[in-house]
Amino acid sequence: MNVALMLRWVWRILQGDGGLWLQLIKAKYLRGRLLLACSLTNGSQFWKSIQSIKHEIRFGLRISVGDGSGTQFWLDPWLEGELLRFRFPRLFAICANPAVLVSAAALEDGWHVTFRRPLGPVEVLDWELLLAVIPLPTSAVSDNISWSLSPSGEFSVSSAYLALCRMPVLPWLSPLWKAPLPLKIKIFVWQLLRDRLPSGTEVLKRHGPGNGICPLCYLPETGSHILFSCVAAQALWCFVRESLGPEWEASDLADFLRVRATQVGLKCRLFWLVFAAMMWTLWTTRNKMVIEKVFPRRASDSFFKFLAFLQHWHPLVRTRDRGRLQHYLDALRAAAQRVSSPLLAA
Ligand SMILES: [Zn+2]
Repeated sequence: MNVALMLRWVWRILQGDGGLWLQLIKAKYLRGRLLLACSLTNGSQFWKSIQSIKHEIRFGLRISVGDGSGTQFWLDPWLEGELLRFRFPRLFAICANPAVLVSAAALEDGWHVTFRRPLGPVEVLDWELLLAVIPLPTSAVSDNISWSLSPSGEFSVSSAYLALCRMPVLPWLSPLWKAPLPLKIKIFVWQLLRDRLPSGTEVLKRHGPGNGICPLCYLPETGSHILFSCVAAQALWCFVRESLGPEWEASDLADFLRVRATQVGLKCRLFWLVFAAMMWTLWTTRNKMVIEKVFPRRASDSFFKFLAFLQHWHPLVRTRDRGRLQHYLDALRAAAQRVSSPLLAA
């Protein structure tokens, strides 16, 4: 409810709807920048709260682009609510300026987006696809925002609250039950996404054993720490991203899942398989450390463990999906061998 209430302020700042307080915010923090593009985190309690929850607004926010001066090309939901960074992850990974405005990219003779290096053949195809789906803005009026979760298009706290509450029961969880995984693993992933894993901090709350601290990072051991922000987790995420491509970049786990888990068909089935194998690897490695006090010798141990789970679940995958999975496995195995070569193991 707090987040939903704070989102009303975010909405009002985006709308430019406010008196003296808004002028203060603009003068002190925004200084000509857009709220969603502003990364300044220091400031008053109010500003810090706004900054910490503002991205939740993307759930229901829709931008209809006028002159494009209030919309970030890659990061804002201006294409029927979709973000270009998620629709074209390969291009986003090499773009020169992630925060570029639509107005700066749209020149009279077409789109001008700069990349850090020349595009490869696959990226050229992506770029052509992108050009086909985005119309060049031609209007001179300013960009307009609306709220897709209420019929009037106006933000309401109750619709935001309902949307936020629905998050744990995510509608896209249903493909999980059809994914090619052992039932035990499906239940584990389900618990994980509902934040029900007995992590260190959860055990501590129930006066169980342990100090609730991650033995690697000395930080509170929450579920999201173990599976996402812990150094062990970061190493595995990095490994998968390097092997399978930039669509495995997850700067925010919730955003990442919202996009990847709602894909369809083969992509979706294999997504759940790889994601579950990553999560199960991290969880079992963590249990060995915390419960049995057995620590991995090197980061690549977890890469091989992860590969072993994928290999083990391989027979559960539909016959027609096996070719693609084999492709994944080859890429992962090659990368694991590179990082574990004797020269680098030290
Ligand atoms: Zn840690």
